[in-house]
Amino acid sequence: MSSLLRFVRSAVVVAALVAAWVGATCNVVFFRKFAEALPEATPHRVLLIVMTGLVLFLIYNIVLQLLFWGRWTKVVPILLVVLAAVAGYASLVFGVGVDGDQIHNVLETNSREASGFFNWQGVFWLTAMIAPPVALVLWARPAHRIGRATVIKAGVVALSLVAGLAIVAVNYIDYASTFRAHRYLRDYIAPANVFAGLHSFYRKTQPLEKIVIAPYGEDARRVNPSARPRLLVFVLGETARAESFSLGGYARMTNPKLAREGVVYFPNTSSCGTATNVSVPCIFSGMTREEYSAKTARARESLLDVARRAGYETAWLDNNTGCKGTCVRGRELSFSPDIAKTWCEGRDFCLDEAMVEELQRFLKDEPTKDRIVVLHQVGSHGPSYFKRYPENIEGRFDPVCATSALQTCSHEAIVNTYDNSILYTDLMLARVIDVLKKEDRYDSAMLYASDHGESTGEKGLYLHGAPYMLAPSQQTHVPMLIWLSDAMKKAAPVAAGCVAAYRDAKVSHDNIFPTVLGLLDVETKVRRANLDLTRCD
Ligand SMILES: [Zn+2]
Repeated sequence: MSSLLRFVRSAVVVAALVAAWVGATCNVVFFRKFAEALPEATPHRVLLIVMTGLVLFLIYNIVLQLLFWGRWTKVVPILLVVLAAVAGYASLVFGVGVDGDQIHNVLETNSREASGFFNWQGVFWLTAMIAPPVALVLWARPAHRIGRATVIKAGVVALSLVAGLAIVAVNYIDYASTFRAHRYLRDYIAPANVFAGLHSFYRKTQPLEKIVIAPYGEDARRVNPSARPRLLVFVLGETARAESFSLGGYARMTNPKLAREGVVYFPNTSSCGTATNVSVPCIFSGMTREEYSAKTARARESLLDVARRAGYETAWLDNNTGCKGTCVRGRELSFSPDIAKTWCEGRDFCLDEAMVEELQRFLKDEPTKDRIVVLHQVGSHGPSYFKRYPENIEGRFDPVCATSALQTCSHEAIVNTYDNSILYTDLMLARVIDVLKKEDRYDSAMLYASDHGESTGEKGLYLHGAPYMLAPSQQTHVPMLIWLSDAMKKAAPVAAGCVAAYRDAKVSHDNIFPTVLGLLDVETKVRRANLDLTRCD
């Protein structure tokens, strides 16, 4: 056998050829949808699509080089080719992505869909997509001497990795905003979509593992039960970063209304995570960031359960993607139809003022008793910052980036749009305070804290979700503030004094659980007094 032929039949070359084939033939619909998702104005649009194809090839190549070695592993590339071809062809015929629901359909043999495959056309195309690479794999003659092959493979994998990461880094903003705004795109990448679909199908259909919720804070009680009823509104923010709050020294006036309300702003607050899914359960868990475990949080009662045990009624109103399991045993509110009509119609999320309207109505309709109401904002959720505030908002910064395709906007426009969303949070919080000022039946307070921050191009990063250890301050340094009604200050002068005294302390999400209990006048062994901002003895 000539050395050239031996080279072509080696595992390294065959794996690379199969990777190229799968990348080119099984992702036609993905490339079409990706091109459609890119705004016309994207610079180097065609080059970007070509480079994206290259990234796919590099990923397949890495996987195949790592999994395809000798005769016994030939099944790996064959399986990959078959799954990718079927998924790619299904997308082409049905025009849909492959996700958990589609996998469900296939497993239940939905005959209408199956007929798309079992016809001459389907057999022809699937054969054409599958036969050449499978023949190549069967013909391959992987080397016996694993040693040398290993060195070559390691080199190829390393090169592919570096090249892939470099391409992604160069086009980071295009990928971040396109894939975030068009989540369905990932359902067209074969065969990754098949594995993701199987996973989601499995998670949806498996009998829910019976989680026994462990009680927490069983000794919780209101310290002074004969005192006036208390009302705490906890506004759980979204994607607001401390850097953009003028209360914390930002040069632009982004908090004109709160600046007049006598709030205590904590300028040195750090978050528990850099994503909603981490920070929200963490805040309500009673664990510090260091201790936090998602598994423990899921299997244990939350802050709201502890408050209920002390006699509070808890209510959660969501204008986000849900309470992540923290509110399930309490009351969950929803928007009344007329409020939804005014504030939500034609939008992906309601404007956050819808929650103020609903809160006002809720308090009016409900009997006076100890209450905590959580308002879960959509806040500054990206990349569509321009959708988070009413267009004519007073004091707005221009020009704005009126698209989710951040790559088509200047840095200045992105920051303007983001700052406008902060301006709107300022307005919304001031309106909550107004509602509480009129509620003279309660000793009331408002706590506001954002779940994590946001990058808007600093250090080349956008959005959030960076690993905590590497995350820039824009993602972990968050705004937090407390407002106390005059009645509350009178009823709890020591707490009010302590809150103000901690103004410049280094604080974090760790402080929220104990501080909420402090504001509610609830005592329990699980409240760590040293983290409670209403205590300073
Ligand atoms: Zn979030």
